[in-house]
Amino acid sequence: MAVILDGKALAKETEAALTERVRKFKERTGRVPQLATILVGNNPASATYVKMKGNACARVGMLSKRIEMPGETTTEQLLGQIGALNADPLVDGILLQHPVPKHIDERAAFEAISLEKDVDGVTSLGFGRMSMGCGAYGSATPTGIMRLLDHYKIDIEGKFAVVIGRSPIIGKPMAMMLLNRNATVVICHSKTRGLPDIMRYADIIIGAVGKPKFIKASWIMDGAVVVDAGYHPGNVGDIDLEGASFKAGAYTPIPGGVGPMTISTLILQTMDAAEKSVS
Ligand code: NAP
Repeated sequence: MAVILDGKALAKETEAALTERVRKFKERTGRVPQLATILVGNNPASATYVKMKGNACARVGMLSKRIEMPGETTTEQLLGQIGALNADPLVDGILLQHPVPKHIDERAAFEAISLEKDVDGVTSLGFGRMSMGCGAYGSATPTGIMRLLDHYKIDIEGKFAVVIGRSPIIGKPMAMMLLNRNATVVICHSKTRGLPDIMRYADIIIGAVGKPKFIKASWIMDGAVVVDAGYHPGNVGDIDLEGASFKAGAYTPIPGGVGPMTISTLILQTMDAAEKSVS
């Protein structure tokens, strides 16, 4: 029987511990940790994600400052807003919801977030420092996946891991995190040839393709650990989980796998940032 990597349950445990940390922090410093979220435009899915992040803050007693900017916001205006949040001593973490409207230079906006407040791990500096093991907040989704694998004591060292997807927020940082834990890592992308053959010997599979049920059960080795970062309407991921779940040694369900871990990691890292700011 495959082990279900229950992100929902672990996120709940994390929230219970965070509630206590927030209480103690408030007692000690007289202030409450705060996450600022920036939503540009009116993408309904993005609005839902931002709302879920604000709700998670509220559940653990943290503050969230919700900044909504119109779709016609310019890069300069967005950079100005990020600069103001960087300078605000009451803001511990900044989340810029991806994607922003196409006319905005999203990379420039991410880079403008100060390293200390980059709790979503989106800056190049944060990525570089995380990759070098020099201390920085990792990108929330892959960090959440690593926390989930560790919670279930999944062996990583020496394993053959295949990451499908190379985006700056999931695939690339995921690969570096697995590499730093001594996995042998292959990163696949849209130009990769022979994906099913590459995957056939994978001990750990991370699906971050953004295409529903793209990865087929028949490509997966029996006993593999299958992590699906994808999320699509109808509770479908990037992996054909129905077929994969009985072959896998362990797998993340949808919903209740990676999604809750992303949000939980974001607020956990905001708490860490608040504690660092006063230490
Ligand atoms: P993305 O930026 O669109 O990246 C998708 C990656 O998949 C790209 O690197 C792309 O390759 C690769 N790809 C596309 N077609 C492929 C193919 N035929 N074979 C192999 N690789 C292929 O997506 P993302 O932001 O990383 O998100 C990935 C998924 O995670 C989405 O379903 C998204 O909804 C989900 N997501 C979930 C959470 C969560 O909290 N659970 C958070 C964020 C995102 P190229 O680089 O060559 O184009």
